[in-house]
Amino acid sequence: MKKILVIGSSGQIGTELVTALREKFGNDAVVASDIKEVSNDDSGPFEVLDVMDMEKLTAIVDKHGINEIYLLAALLSATAEKNPKFAWDLNMIGLFNVLNLAKEGKINKVFWPSSIAVFGPSTPKHNTPQFTIMEPTTVYGISKLAGERWCEYYAKNYNVDVRSIRYPGLISYASLPGGGTTDYAVDIFYSAKKGEKFSCFLKADTPLPMMYMEDAIRATIDLMEAPAEKVKVRSSYNIAGMSFTPEEIFNAVKRLRPDFEIEYQPDFRQKIADSWPGSIDDSKAAEDWGWKAKFDINDLAQIMFDNVSV
Ligand code: NAD
Repeated sequence: MKKILVIGSSGQIGTELVTALREKFGNDAVVASDIKEVSNDDSGPFEVLDVMDMEKLTAIVDKHGINEIYLLAALLSATAEKNPKFAWDLNMIGLFNVLNLAKEGKINKVFWPSSIAVFGPSTPKHNTPQFTIMEPTTVYGISKLAGERWCEYYAKNYNVDVRSIRYPGLISYASLPGGGTTDYAVDIFYSAKKGEKFSCFLKADTPLPMMYMEDAIRATIDLMEAPAEKVKVRSSYNIAGMSFTPEEIFNAVKRLRPDFEIEYQPDFRQKIADSWPGSIDDSKAAEDWGWKAKFDINDLAQIMFDNVSV
């Protein structure tokens, strides 16, 4: 019987992933866990867990008979730049702890998210290929690229069934983003709903790959449920949703709220955004396990505008 542990379940992705997994596999089949003592979905079991604590992680896996782990706990791009050593430790030790549980045969399957941050200034910016130059310049990107290499290493050398996606910037209304460079694309809807002028921390013409959360959750579960032989990439898959600049999303929101105003005040996050791709080629994910995004920028603007609560 499937028994899933989601680590970092109270964050932006975890909040919606736990609900989706419980809808699919049953409330008791999914154990949520986070270092924060708050569960956003009380319909099933919850454990307080620091992923760096291998003893407690092992005890939780034993207690619930866990056989699959979705590891979401990490420090995100903007926060990681402020605390590089801690970001490296959390992002790597957490991954090793989970991969080692799989190597020892305690669990059968691992999901670990990578990011478009694995790419850097020397990567082709437009339609960035699955396999290309990867020279990230942020601590977050360095930790994600190292993580990808370790995932592939564990898959090839220890037969660990680890699966991964390079998420673009994820946009959702159910919970707030956790300190990334694409957070502006969520924040803009709160300002629009409140009727406030929006101060954007990126320049107007900075294109970045983005995705509506429902697409990201579907991609995650589809990849985890795909037959193992179809999952040919064991580092991490490119997936694409949409690509837009701050000015383009502003215009989409302005159509829904014509008096909306914006000002651009780029900060340290501009440098991070400038080092990332503007759009992503996801043909390998489409070919291997049938990935296709459903939501475009206008769907996204309408859903977010209708649903953010202020
Ligand atoms: P988030 O910051 O919103 O959530 C992370 C959660 O992990 C938080 O609830 C936090 O309390 C928890 N956590 C932190 N340290 C922990 C620890 N030591 N032990 C257990 N839990 C701990 O992040 P998110 O946006 O949900 O991202 C989840 C994963 O997806 C991360 O690996 C992130 O790098 C990746 N990702 C996210 C995005 C995005 O746009 N949200 C894009 C690319 C990749």
